[in-house]
Amino acid sequence: MKEYLKNDSDQIDHILEMIKKQGTEFLNNINERMTSVDNTLISGKADLSESGFGTEETLRIFNERFEPIMVGSSGPRYLGFVTGGSTPASIAGDWLATIYDQNTQSAKGQGDISANVELETIKILLELLGLPQNFLGGFVTGATMSNFTCMAVARQWLGKEQGRDIAKEGISGKINILTATPHSSSIKSLSLLGIGSSNIIKIKTAGEDREAIGITDLEDQIMKLNGEPFILISSGGTVNTVDFDDFNAIHQLKEKYNFWWHIDAAFGGFAACSETYKHLVDGWENADSITVDCHKWLNVPYESAVFFVKEDYKILQVETFQNSNAPYLGDPLESFSYLNFLPENSRRLKALPAWFSIMAYGKKGYQDIVENNIKRSQQFGQLIKNSNDFKLLAPVRLNTICFTLKDERKQDAVGKFLEMLNGTGKVFMTPTFYNGHKGIRAAFVNWRTGDKDIQIIFDVMNKIISEME
Ligand SMILES: *Cc1c(COP(=O)(O)O)cnc(C)c1O
Repeated sequence: MKEYLKNDSDQIDHILEMIKKQGTEFLNNINERMTSVDNTLISGKADLSESGFGTEETLRIFNERFEPIMVGSSGPRYLGFVTGGSTPASIAGDWLATIYDQNTQSAKGQGDISANVELETIKILLELLGLPQNFLGGFVTGATMSNFTCMAVARQWLGKEQGRDIAKEGISGKINILTATPHSSSIKSLSLLGIGSSNIIKIKTAGEDREAIGITDLEDQIMKLNGEPFILISSGGTVNTVDFDDFNAIHQLKEKYNFWWHIDAAFGGFAACSETYKHLVDGWENADSITVDCHKWLNVPYESAVFFVKEDYKILQVETFQNSNAPYLGDPLESFSYLNFLPENSRRLKALPAWFSIMAYGKKGYQDIVENNIKRSQQFGQLIKNSNDFKLLAPVRLNTICFTLKDERKQDAVGKFLEMLNGTGKVFMTPTFYNGHKGIRAAFVNWRTGDKDIQIIFDVMNKIISEME
């Protein structure tokens, strides 16, 4: 064994102590961490060392070069994209997933039990989200891969409806996709799956200031397909304005027409944790597949998302993801292995952070996280509404505020404003374009965000406006 490797192995206690100390310091001061840095601040590049530095010296180098410019993206005022945060329990689960370093595949027979932990986590998650247990699920890196996984099964379903086995034969002919306001990752998935993103038939939204599917237009478009099967991509929370499709109305259409119904509920699905807001996902249990992102509102570290596909489609799912050419014999759940159910082969115990966090905080804990974020977002929305300088671009529906500068003549200044705002390092938001306007999004998905953060953010915003004048 090489000297440094042996030394490190002998002093693993010391190494983990150092990391623990550093981690504690980071987390205890995360409120003060800047939320954005200029990445030109990275100095130079490390050269490949001949015989290594050992972990302690490597940590010193990391701390010198990178640590001071790591941002507080899991802190309370990082509102960019839809960035969650890590609960203490999820950090514990994440560390242990690394330490135990299992390769999560088979849940039956010899080997390890990590796939059983994953299956259990899926069951608990279904309960947390008020979904029935007739979904089969697994963990993937993010909602993008979850959308990909669900739509891959949908593609196989559609082929079968037309008497083809797309997994074996490849795609021939057109696959009709109906959707109104899909997330960009669904478009990416269509491209990856060979379906082609230009095969989308765009459905009108439910109104001028809506992103949800217009049900009348959906039915009109379905009629035009003359009974051809298709895939419907619907939304359980759009990223700009958190609009939800009318799942009960879609369910009624599903009784009449032949289609695969996928819901991208990456973050909006967590509305189910709140008694007050769970009506937004009413009827979603009737979908064929659902995407939920755990590294968003479940507040577990990246990379964690789940797909849920109705168990009825287990054969189609195995046809799509089967890892060997041998025909599967009998029920794929009998000799269950994740190898045959999702894109990756070797995987870490991705479910453990989620398992820890749900076990640690329970139903009530997640209801609190979700409702607290909604409250903060309403508070922020109210400040925007009452302001002379800003205006909402969409009503406050859940946890994301989409706003712009009030003065129409200042549309070109929106980018400059956002650059200055993020430049303060006190808050981070992301740009968007909505309803013909340049806008800014602030997504509240972090358990740490409190009352006074909203005030800090709004003060910084007003200060920048006065500097711009
Ligand atoms: C964030 C998001 C995605 C993509 O998720 P990743 O975790 O970044 O892959 C997909 N759909 C919706 C609605 C999202 O909010």
